[in-house]
Amino acid sequence: MTVPPPGEPAPDVGPSPAPDDLGLLVAGHRLLTTPDGGLPRVGELPAGTGWVPVGTLDGVPAWAAAPDDATRPAGRWRSWRALAAELPEPLATLAGRAVAVVTFRRTHRWCGACRAELADVPGETARRCPACDLYVPLRLSPAVLAAITRPGPAGGPTELLLVRHASGPTGLWALVAGFVEAGESLETAVRREVTEEVGLTLGTVDYFGSQPWAISGPGVLLAGFTVTAADPAAEPEVDGRELVRARWFPVDALPAELPPAYSISRWLIDAVAARG
Ligand SMILES: [Zn+2]
Repeated sequence: MTVPPPGEPAPDVGPSPAPDDLGLLVAGHRLLTTPDGGLPRVGELPAGTGWVPVGTLDGVPAWAAAPDDATRPAGRWRSWRALAAELPEPLATLAGRAVAVVTFRRTHRWCGACRAELADVPGETARRCPACDLYVPLRLSPAVLAAITRPGPAGGPTELLLVRHASGPTGLWALVAGFVEAGESLETAVRREVTEEVGLTLGTVDYFGSQPWAISGPGVLLAGFTVTAADPAAEPEVDGRELVRARWFPVDALPAELPPAYSISRWLIDAVAARG
């Protein structure tokens, strides 16, 4: 039996891209951009690249591939975080989807039940085992974010709870966040995370919006909530391991070190601040 080298599985034969289609090359969590910072076209990239479809943008088909070290073109490779900060929303989302699909294919090469090599399912972001028929879709990991508020002192603005993490972007004042566990609703996860991380009990929990997030691994979907502290006099307590600080800020005096403008964390903070 021949064992193929580890890495990206070869795409199954399907429709092939046209030279003017968008071509997103992904290496790890970095994407190849054009010299002006945009996304390249398939015709500008090496022939023979193993493209897989990742959707369309304004009617233009988009394809992704993961070149190996030997065939990786030189050029401007940039993280999704850098692209998301600069590119307009549809392009940043497409780049995030390309990273998620490429990462999924690289990490779902073999059947977890019988060890045969999985095959792409045409028309889906999914793989299937030809030996035992196991179906393996790209699974999303939902995570929740909570913008916790309480009334300010009499006549003063609302206060927002911001936290500092022990790892990751430690310089930022961020929101309480965490992954949803099996068997939880999004709202249950919000209440559990807030209790676990800062020891507060919540009053209202209102859905705000969501954002696909390509930084913390393939297929993370962030869901944001605006929530109120049940007891306005309660002070947060952090465990010092995951979080190192938690503080109430008046919404008209928020710190400068906030999450980036392209993140739902920031959209939540800005929305709470705009309400005053
Ligand atoms: Zn199998």
